[in-house]
Amino acid sequence: MSYKTVFYALGTENSIILEDADISDVLKMIVERVLNIEEKMSAFKDSSEISKIASNSGICGTRVSEDVFCVLEKALDVSQASKGAFDVTVRPLTKLWNFGNEMDSIPEKADIEAAKSCVGYQNLVLEPKERTAFFTNSGCKIDLGGIAKGYAANEAKRILLEHGVKSALINFGGNIMAVGQSFENAPWKIGIQNPLSERGAPVLTIDITDKAVVTSAVNERFFIRDGIRYHHIFNPISGYPAQSGLLSVTIIDECSMLADALSTAVFVLGATEGLKLIRKYKSEVILITESGDILSSFEINHPTNIA
Ligand code: ADP
Ligand code: MG
Repeated sequence: MSYKTVFYALGTENSIILEDADISDVLKMIVERVLNIEEKMSAFKDSSEISKIASNSGICGTRVSEDVFCVLEKALDVSQASKGAFDVTVRPLTKLWNFGNEMDSIPEKADIEAAKSCVGYQNLVLEPKERTAFFTNSGCKIDLGGIAKGYAANEAKRILLEHGVKSALINFGGNIMAVGQSFENAPWKIGIQNPLSERGAPVLTIDITDKAVVTSAVNERFFIRDGIRYHHIFNPISGYPAQSGLLSVTIIDECSMLADALSTAVFVLGATEGLKLIRKYKSEVILITESGDILSSFEINHPTNIA
């Protein structure tokens, strides 16, 4: 028997699969923790710490919680390492494109240029001693949409382990975190979806024990106009949805927060530069290219093309 709990937070559906249903106190603790992370990190809430940093931009630094500081440090690290392919300050662009809204449309070129001029991780200064974040220019804003779910999944795993739960499968909006082995004492079987299929049928399955599996793909939030697919992962240099020749990027790592940021970064960088970045962090990666080829550093038996 297994038991699944589902809750809504961080703008998405989240679930945890457990062997027993009798740890509702621990589950409640996790839901509260994730809602608290959302409260601090949401770009949509004026009261969040992220919004406060933005409203103080160009004026003064903002003291933040340990949670926010930890995520900002990792986000800035990946922003630097990916030379801004992942950019924690991408919010002016994501706000302009406003994905997830029913009124999907392509913004005016001039507006894209204006938004782009406010994007740049170099404008964000973190001060560990004071635990402050400061934007040197006004108009700058943070977007943790590409990393916060990963942090939340790490936290959920920590809470489960602290309470003696040795086996569980966390899925926060597609960010999978395997705790230990499956209930049958075997690796968890994780499906990697076909990024072109509406229903997300798996093209391959990988064996995972105690690791995070995070995918960034073109089929998460998108609309199609004149045959072009516009999706929610942006190239901060062009100001448009990234077109790097990849349909999906899956990162496998012990740290879900790192895997989350890297999946977005590699998606923007494309295969060649993306694989260099992955080597630096010693993560594993599975790429599906526009021609349907599957490239992987992960040892698996899989088809080499999704067609
Ligand atoms: P999902 O959140 O759908 O699982 P990702 O982890 O790839 O997928 O995150 C996409 C989100 O990251 C976007 O919704 C947006 O909030 C943010 N984002 C988009 N482009 C970038 C970028 N170049 N750098 C950092 N964050 C980005
Ligand atoms: Mg991501």
